[in-house]
This record gives sequence, structure tokens and C-alpha cells, in this order.
Amino acid sequence: MNRRTFLCKTMTFLAAAYVSDAWRCFSAEAASPAPLQCPKIKETYLKFVMPLQNRLQTDLIVLHHIGDSNEDFSAADVHQWHINNGWAGIGYHFVIRKNGVIERGRPLDTVGAHCYGYNEHSVGINVVGNFETAVPTVAQLDSAVHLTAYLCQLYRIDPFADDVVLGHRDLNATLCPGKNFYAELDAFRQRVQSNFSHTLVRRAPSSRRHRLPNVH
Ligand SMILES: [Zn+2]
Repeated sequence: MNRRTFLCKTMTFLAAAYVSDAWRCFSAEAASPAPLQCPKIKETYLKFVMPLQNRLQTDLIVLHHIGDSNEDFSAADVHQWHINNGWAGIGYHFVIRKNGVIERGRPLDTVGAHCYGYNEHSVGINVVGNFETAVPTVAQLDSAVHLTAYLCQLYRIDPFADDVVLGHRDLNATLCPGKNFYAELDAFRQRVQSNFSHTLVRRAPSSRRHRLPNVH
């Protein structure tokens, strides 16, 4: 092979490699799903009466209900109740109204006050209602699924793991989030998983989840 032939073959090879790499990049991009968009969140501008701590870790989403009443309470209502308890303000990060509107509670990057022993590394979502007697609305469930899937993507936590999306009663001795919502949690998790479009590093199952007896 003379020098000219060698250079020509080399250039042909490099061009082919470039096209192949470019095609691979294009194919990979075309195959990867678009990230999930953040659901619309209604800002509430609640004033907290004590300083809040930043949360340094997030590997758990805890679902709650109101419990005592099936009325359509707002994040501001819950905020006032929790101030009356002597707390800094609302303990949940989100409140989902009957019409599906997601209201901001405690700022997302702060430690909540919603699940004893787990606040330091969890996000608390309250789906408004008493699900011992009633059921969540379709709009509430749609919003809760979208929000939960988005949070899993945001914090790179795995909604397919069995200890990531839990009801309050999985962790503390309480009826929350009510037997009717709790009975739907497996279907809820499956909907979160099917909404979830972010590439994940799967982690080993942990033994953190301990079921406690219900309070009756
Ligand atoms: Zn709860």
C-alpha cells in the first residue's frame, strides 16, 4: 500500500467511524424518553413561625390523608392546625385538593413533620380526605401519581423498589392514609412506575420498611 492509498483508507475509516458514532448518539437520544415535567404547583407563601432545617437526603415518599374529615381543606388550613400544635407550620410538603390542585406546603428542600422517625429523608404528600370512609378523587390520584413520579425522578430514587412509595401506616402506628387509599397503593405504585421515565441506577432493597400494627 503506497502512502496515498494508506491516507485514503485511513480517512475513509475515520469518516465511517464518525458517522457510526453520530448514528449511535442519535439512536440513543431517540430511544431515551423525555424527562417528566414538574406538575403545576400552586404556591401558597405560608409563613413558618420557627426556622426550618434543610433536608440532606431524600429516598422516601410518604402518602397521607387528613383523616378526621372528608372536607376539602387547603394547605393554609393544615398550616394553621399545625401552628396550633406548636409546630413551625404545615408538616407536609404538598397538599392535594379534591379537584387535583397541588398546593405547596413546607418548602420541598426542608425537613418535614409528617412521619415520626422518617422526616429527615422523606417527602410528605397529603391527599385531602378521610379515606377510611371515602375514596380519593380521580383528579387527586392523577396529580399524586404525577407528583410522586416527578419526585422520584428529581431525587433519583427508584419507584420500583418496595420501600420508596409508602403509606404513613407502613411506618408509624396509624390508620393514615385510610384503608380505602391504602388498598389502592399497589395500583398507585404501578401508575407511578409507568409514568416514570428517568434512567435510574437501581439500588438493593433495604430492610427499612417495617409494618406496624394498625391502630383501631
Ligand atoms: Zn399520615
